[in-house]
Amino acid sequence: MSEAVLSQILATLVDLKTNQQQLADKVDKLQSEVDKDDHLLPHKAARYHNSPVDIILADQPILNLALTGKEVREKERAPAQKRHSDSDGDTIVSPTFTTNRSTEQAGPYTDKPVLTTYPSQKGVKPFKMDWGAADPQVRGPVVASHLANSINIRNAIGAYGGSYSIYRSLAVAMGDLPADHKPNFDYTQPPVKIAQQPQWSDPTKIVSLDPFGHLTSQYFKSEIEEQGIDIRPTIAITRAHMLVPELQNEIKDGSMRVDGKVIVSETGEINVHKAAVDPVWFLPGVAARLNVEEELLRRSLYENTGGMYPELISRPDLKVFLPPIGGLTVYIFGNHELLSDPNTRLTVRVHDECNGSDVFGSDICTCRPYLIYGMKESIKEAQDGGVGLIVYFRKEGRALGEVTKYLVYNARKRAGDSAAKYFQRTENVAGVKDMRFQALMPDVFHWLGVTKIDRFMSMSNMKHDALVENGIKILERCPIPDELVPPDSKVEMEAKIAAGYFTTGSIPREEDLTHTVGRGWEEFQH
Ligand SMILES: [Zn+2]
Repeated sequence: MSEAVLSQILATLVDLKTNQQQLADKVDKLQSEVDKDDHLLPHKAARYHNSPVDIILADQPILNLALTGKEVREKERAPAQKRHSDSDGDTIVSPTFTTNRSTEQAGPYTDKPVLTTYPSQKGVKPFKMDWGAADPQVRGPVVASHLANSINIRNAIGAYGGSYSIYRSLAVAMGDLPADHKPNFDYTQPPVKIAQQPQWSDPTKIVSLDPFGHLTSQYFKSEIEEQGIDIRPTIAITRAHMLVPELQNEIKDGSMRVDGKVIVSETGEINVHKAAVDPVWFLPGVAARLNVEEELLRRSLYENTGGMYPELISRPDLKVFLPPIGGLTVYIFGNHELLSDPNTRLTVRVHDECNGSDVFGSDICTCRPYLIYGMKESIKEAQDGGVGLIVYFRKEGRALGEVTKYLVYNARKRAGDSAAKYFQRTENVAGVKDMRFQALMPDVFHWLGVTKIDRFMSMSNMKHDALVENGIKILERCPIPDELVPPDSKVEMEAKIAAGYFTTGSIPREEDLTHTVGRGWEEFQH
């Protein structure tokens, strides 16, 4: 080796040493600041392994645990080749793993925050996941935990609980909840059995929920209890009684009857089984349903969530995603076992959340009246020996959200509310008429084994078409009766019918739409 090469190597080593020293100084500085603040956060040290933020690179193991003693020594001898920039733009050398995790106290998280992972990364070995397998043991559990003991074996992107993972973060940050809290699932099992359907093992039929999601704590008991993996149910089933003022009135005036089984008391208590379902998306299936490429879907999800889930990009091998959105609730009236029986009559309402009307009685739309009507007909069906089913989706304001919805209300009312301009006002603000995309909605019907709906309590052509395209027959479509339509909601109703909503009445012409007008802005001055 020539002297020139040797001196070059020496210079590089000196350079690296300087960089290492700079990095160490930065770490010390950060550490002393953290220590300074610690009296404000008494539990902080216990919950987080105090360490500076740094990036774990693709060719490095996520956990020190994954390094053997020999590898650690080698890493110490050979400084990392990769360099990257810190927030000040300085080039710093990637961290080397100088400590073996097993020799020190391990926190619930990895020593350094893992910003993303890579399929070929050392130690990364996702838990088996064969979406669409009939045997839950072959299918495998949905493992989404980011704790240190699960991060290597995660087979799902995202976090349990959808949007509620944010509140969980607050509870952990405030010290109210240990990050590694293990839920106790004793006595939480479903009170009724939703029998496994052939649809559960058809990977084209169920792509947006985990059909085994209510049985997680039973099927994967040993993984949870013996292996200590944080695996959580994504579906819960329970039973309840409900009281609905409108239906209590119907019972009082004799339009509905107490039968002791579905309506169980003169006060109008209604017997119901219900299931809460968190979304679990099998990305290839979701992409196929939406008719887009999976890669494009992943990129769009990544970008439009502010880069919240880098593994959408860096882990193409992980196919399951728990999106941070609301799920759905199923209400079953009558015998749930008959839902999959094609010889039993079934009445259904698919309802998308509208808080203003559903809960607070806003009269600008028909949401609550249609929901109550759907319930009434479902209950009557159950009383006649059939089954009634309400599926309630958290898709506020056509999945545009309530802020957008109110902006549109203002634009409608200020600019003259007419059926002719109804959809245009929404498009002006949101860019689209509707973002509910009913393509994923039929999954819950497949989960319940439904193949045919006798009475469909909806006028929506989108809901109807999505169900029919997914192989579920609809025998009768039932519009909301005229007397249940509040006057100010006629604008929406006419506009929707003109745009293709089902009606048994006449379809309004273009000129009719300009004559259907709602309450003006000034009429709200009281
Ligand atoms: Zn509404």
